[in-house]
Amino acid sequence: MNYQSTRDSKISITAARAIAQGLSADGGLFLPETLPRLTPEMISKMTRMGYSERASLVLSMFLEDFGAEELSTYTGKAYGSPGFSSSSAAPLHKLDSNTHFLELWHGPTSAFKDIALQILPYLLSASLKKTNDKREACILVATSGDTGKAALEGFRDVAGTRIMVFYPLRGVSEIQRLQMATQSGANVNVVAVESNFDDAQKGVKEIFSDETLREELNGKGFFLSSANSINWGRLVPQIVYYVSSYCDLIASGEISTGDRVNYCVPTGNFGNILAAWYAKEIGLPVSKLICASNINNVLTQFINTGAYSRERPFYTTMSPSMDILVSSNLERLLFEASGKDSAVTAGYMSALSNTGRYEVTGKMRDVIGETFTGLYASEDDTKKAIAEVFNRYSYLVDTHTAVAYKALRDYRETTLDDTPSIVVSTASPFKFCESVLDALGIGYSGSGVDLIDRLSEETGCPVPEPLAALRGMEPRFKEAVRVNGMNDAVRRFVES
Ligand SMILES: *Cc1c(COP(=O)(O)O)cnc(C)c1O
Repeated sequence: MNYQSTRDSKISITAARAIAQGLSADGGLFLPETLPRLTPEMISKMTRMGYSERASLVLSMFLEDFGAEELSTYTGKAYGSPGFSSSSAAPLHKLDSNTHFLELWHGPTSAFKDIALQILPYLLSASLKKTNDKREACILVATSGDTGKAALEGFRDVAGTRIMVFYPLRGVSEIQRLQMATQSGANVNVVAVESNFDDAQKGVKEIFSDETLREELNGKGFFLSSANSINWGRLVPQIVYYVSSYCDLIASGEISTGDRVNYCVPTGNFGNILAAWYAKEIGLPVSKLICASNINNVLTQFINTGAYSRERPFYTTMSPSMDILVSSNLERLLFEASGKDSAVTAGYMSALSNTGRYEVTGKMRDVIGETFTGLYASEDDTKKAIAEVFNRYSYLVDTHTAVAYKALRDYRETTLDDTPSIVVSTASPFKFCESVLDALGIGYSGSGVDLIDRLSEETGCPVPEPLAALRGMEPRFKEAVRVNGMNDAVRRFVES
């Protein structure tokens, strides 16, 4: 099975090439030409496996040019200790008889990005070998918080790679800043940008299209690469936890093989929920996918009306990883829903960049609506959901997960659908102490790391080890640059 581009279906390349390249030269995203088949027998067999073994099997279905043995080496390293502290990288927490939380934050940075970014370095390094690229990968990341730290942890001391993260000087939480500034590893660099996230992101994109710099780096044996969710290598590891959670429900006797389940996913860039859609497409018995947004509810509007518009106010919310108006992975769904029509997909994408909006056909809207439901939560709803889950069930959720919980509640109220449902839990509540304490009505003074213990004492919930370790740590990276100094920072980094 080869990979094609959403904007040019004539392209046909191997999985390794798609991962090494990241983005297609036509600006499109890579996806599989045909989909593998997950049979009920395979699901039954996987029910008796651990997470790493399940991951090897699912990855091997999509990455045909990777051997079974090499994949099981990678998944064993990525999902075992010391990276993941729990016995499963993605355990379920049962809330009530038909509601579960899929906890994806037991990795080294306490957010779900770890699941993909712990294995991506192995996949990328192997892809470079398979495509015979001898150059060193210089991975550039612009982050508003979670991706930067997860990418640093994933690529730290990985041979043949260097990683540089740019974050907005005043645009990340205190804990997120400290997580990045204290990063260990010989091949890493973290630089603050004296501006906001949009400018940092734009700066990185400009570096990617800077031909002079590209040539210069090439001459020194480097090429630029990206660790964000446009890369198929980040998407495919996310399909695994949907399959794995379904197997866990069978193993614990909650459902029988073949029973359908719903997933409710807090969504920003549409990567996580798109992985759920692929799980369904290959044969996982999924009924509905509930796409949960905060008040930046561009996806709610799109799913309900078929019209996508980024011409709307942008809000900074307590679920910052979902503060996004251009969800890049939606492009893959448009391609699939249009019957793999790259001309149609390219047309929508160019309308989006030229006019800020597009509207899909009624038929496409119906295809998408068969599986997806779009709902959103206000800031007040989000706080109330955190308090409700804690007060009723003594279970603490973060702000992003709370958005999804509220969306599931609303979905059930309006549809009376009582299908067993899994809320995807994307971050530890300890990454967002201020908002969680506010939601619980607990007073506090101080900020960041100081509040970790306060939240733990008040709720009785243990602090995740990697966040506890931040106490008393001294920042290692203190450099700040202006946006127009980002390219020189990259030059200095590859020469160091
Ligand atoms: C990245 C992130 C999301 C959004 O995931 P997408 O794949 O971008 O839709 C949700 N919650 C948290 C905590 C995140 O870090």
